[in-house]
Amino acid sequence: MSRTVRTIHDAFRDDIGDLVTRRPVPGPRIAQVDPFLFLNHHGPQTYPPNNRGLPFGPHPHRGFETVTFILDGELGHYDSGGHESVIRAGGVQWMTAGSGLIHAELSPPGFKRDGGPMEILQLWVNLPSRLKMAAPAYTGLQREDIPALALSEGATLNLIAGGLGDQRGPVETLSGHFMATLELKAGAAVELPAPAARTVFFYVVRGRVHTGGHEIRQWKLAEFNADGDNIAIEALEDAYVLFGHGEPINEPVVAHGPFVMNTREEIIAAIQDYQAGKFGPPPRVSA
Ligand code: MN
Repeated sequence: MSRTVRTIHDAFRDDIGDLVTRRPVPGPRIAQVDPFLFLNHHGPQTYPPNNRGLPFGPHPHRGFETVTFILDGELGHYDSGGHESVIRAGGVQWMTAGSGLIHAELSPPGFKRDGGPMEILQLWVNLPSRLKMAAPAYTGLQREDIPALALSEGATLNLIAGGLGDQRGPVETLSGHFMATLELKAGAAVELPAPAARTVFFYVVRGRVHTGGHEIRQWKLAEFNADGDNIAIEALEDAYVLFGHGEPINEPVVAHGPFVMNTREEIIAAIQDYQAGKFGPPPRVSA
């Protein structure tokens, strides 16, 4: 039995300076898709030569994970744990903020000089209370590090985390998430496991698909009912879909800017710890 769609949510435009940004969650009718908290869809857009690049200089996080999908362009990552990498189109950054770190997410010097196309997704994945103070970690994956599974005619699944058949993605998450992107040609059809007890995250980055009894277009997020153990998807035109699932955490969420905890007291502690320098030194950023 394939799961049916319960609700469809629009992504709302919320540009950050000249950075085109759309956000399906949180939104007016949706606080989170537990355990998935937040999605920013930046671009697609083309930066001119001699641009200032992305505006995400050094800032802290605690209590969750950021997963960044570089669909086009490139993204430099620098953090207080000493991690530094530039991830190119097709790559993914999986960062566990856990107990706290400071990172910068910036366009590398060559991109600022030459400009070019840019499209990036950033998903925030919550951590349960028992893992909020886990050790910070960062994994930077290029396109070639991510298995591209040909599922059926015209359907490719880029497996980032979790298992599918006898394949496993390169990221082993603390909470056993499944995370993938789907590249579908018009007419392609796939059926993917998505056990009823797990929350599905389903966002159409571009194109148009049919799933769970509904048509889902670009810039729409679908929530599913717990009435089956898989998801059936058919592409009505060439499409790109962010698809994941995870166990709901079912705990209070108290978020304040870059911190996501369970209580107000924990937020105050996060701010105090950050101000006291306990998140480590700000990262050194290559100019
Ligand atoms: Mn950040």
